[in-house]
Amino acid sequence: MTPKEQIDALREELTKHNYNYYVLDNPTISDFDFDMKMKQLQELEAKHPEFQDENSPSVRVGGMITKNFETIVHESRMYSLDNSYSKEDLEDWEKRIQRILGDEKVTFTCELKYDGASISLTYEKGKFVRAVTRGDGFQGDDVTNNVRTIRSVPLQLKGDFPEKFDIRGEIVLPHEGFAKMNQERIEAGEDPYMNPRNTASGSLKLQDSAEVAKRPLECLLYTITGTNLNVSSQFESLEKARQWGFKVPEVAKLCKSTDEVMEFVNYWDVHRHELPYETDGVVIKVNSFAHQDELGYTAKAPRWAMAYKFKAEQVATVLNEITYQVGRTGAITPVANLEPVLLAGTTVKRASLHNADQIEKLDVRVSDEVFVEKGGEIIPKIVGVDFTKRSADSEPTQYITECPECGSSLIRKEGEAQHYCPNYYGCPPQITGRIQHFISRKAMDIDGLGAETVELLFKEDLIANYADLYELKKEQIVPLERMAEKSAENLINGIEKSKEIPFERVLFALGIRFVGETVAKKLAKAYKSIDALVQATVIDLVAVDEIGIKIAESVVDFFSREDNVAIINRLKNYGLQLELSANQLENQTEKLKGFTFVVSGVFESISRNELKKLIEDNGGKVASSISSKTSYIIAGDNMGPSKKEKADKLGVPIISEYDFKEML
Ligand code: AMP
Ligand code: ZN
Repeated sequence: MTPKEQIDALREELTKHNYNYYVLDNPTISDFDFDMKMKQLQELEAKHPEFQDENSPSVRVGGMITKNFETIVHESRMYSLDNSYSKEDLEDWEKRIQRILGDEKVTFTCELKYDGASISLTYEKGKFVRAVTRGDGFQGDDVTNNVRTIRSVPLQLKGDFPEKFDIRGEIVLPHEGFAKMNQERIEAGEDPYMNPRNTASGSLKLQDSAEVAKRPLECLLYTITGTNLNVSSQFESLEKARQWGFKVPEVAKLCKSTDEVMEFVNYWDVHRHELPYETDGVVIKVNSFAHQDELGYTAKAPRWAMAYKFKAEQVATVLNEITYQVGRTGAITPVANLEPVLLAGTTVKRASLHNADQIEKLDVRVSDEVFVEKGGEIIPKIVGVDFTKRSADSEPTQYITECPECGSSLIRKEGEAQHYCPNYYGCPPQITGRIQHFISRKAMDIDGLGAETVELLFKEDLIANYADLYELKKEQIVPLERMAEKSAENLINGIEKSKEIPFERVLFALGIRFVGETVAKKLAKAYKSIDALVQATVIDLVAVDEIGIKIAESVVDFFSREDNVAIINRLKNYGLQLELSANQLENQTEKLKGFTFVVSGVFESISRNELKKLIEDNGGKVASSISSKTSYIIAGDNMGPSKKEKADKLGVPIISEYDFKEML
């Protein structure tokens, strides 16, 4: 096989697996095999940039940066929908339709109303060319680079698709992926996202498509528009779209009467909680396109479609108590403890009250009968109080002023909604929370030690910070509750083994606020050792790529605490990796600091990846596209003509791989 044939075969195969996995939810290959094939394709593509294709399955990992989202006018307007809330509303609508259509028989397609961000995708000759947000309905933002990374968006269609058309749908963040993203944020000491819908639409406007690629977004489609579509009804168009490779949920149903529509509505009102993503209603559409044409549009919405909104599920129950949780970072979260009640298929005992302002705004008090709702959020929330049921002697809730765990006076920083316990070293949940973070899988990954054991060790006065773990002796652990010779041994071995964990993960494990996995990697690379990082000022830190002021201040604050420095010195003495290893450090210099390179084409003496690594190892930056900030373009054979043109226009010098080596 020629390289071109190899590339084509891999692209075809990966496209098929992608489709099986993300559209059909039915993978036929292991993740490992998939990754290996993807890697093979990426390597071949790197070696043969002349076969570059912006719709290759390898673009799913992202990397394209969008600085400004261009405004694009929609070929046809993206309308809103009229809303209905009852069977009577639907019957009225049906009467209005029949008045226009006379006595022609009308059928309806019922679909779920997906709650996410609307999107319009354009396809030409079966290829994905553009994605535009709804915007104001007339024009939206070009978010093509970001949408390309969403695995369920087909880049190449199958079957007998029309020459050119737009397809519309909704980009959603399924519950499971949303929960996982939040888990990771919490681990990094960041505030969790409030709901999947806003997170989905926020994701579309991220500048770095590689960040979008990491988010488990899905694209569900429901409308095709264009000319010569060769379909005559909504139901048929859904079926066709499915055949062309789009993700169109199977639950759509053709209904002959309002009664049948109501059956569909009532069924999904109950069963929606079993769906993997959020839905806030049903959309009912007149099925025949001929009928749709006849009915037309009002100023705002089609006359041939109607949304039926589910009532947000709400129940009333008694608020028994407000308790206050203290997180690893000291943040206080008020929690409503409720009289258990059934809501959206689960028994609810607790609801979030967010913060002091929220309690004051709702005027929630203990013993009140409160309304609890389950919206897009994972934890139910209190949305109001039944004031008619409040007793006359009830008193307004006094927010706590002292930490419920350690008694310290709480503080509230300017501009922040949350109260904090400032007792960083003495507040038990902060101490154990930090140790639990330290041992977690993505940090030190200590085998044989879990969250409960940390609490036990703390309670028994055996540890008060993570450095103490390294002083633990087997004899101290064996006598503890639920411990035995073997488990104690495992624990000690696990702790010993963690001394091999590389610097960047140790840095993450320290639990510096806002220093998640990615930031820890960046800092490790930039500073190379903890000693250098301890010395860094806010000004130094913000000069590091992608480190903002919030992170910088947090890092400086962390190392300004003497106790933290003492703990770090102990970790150093125990033999933890507090600098990049010789292996990682080898050949690292700062020679190229301040220079940005674009690498293009094929090279004789070095692979593209090696070249990029060489640049980064020497303090330079690699960018994917040419801009006025590019210092040099390193060009090999087959550099694209458009790149050359752009370089000439911006006056960016083009050098060879040999010039570059000379430079080093
Ligand atoms: P609204 O924003 O409440 O006016 O509702 C209209 C929006 O519902 C449309 O712009 C779509 O983004 C969204 N929507 C979700 N699911 C569907 C569906 N199955 N059919 C049509 N629109 C839908
Ligand atoms: Zn406290």
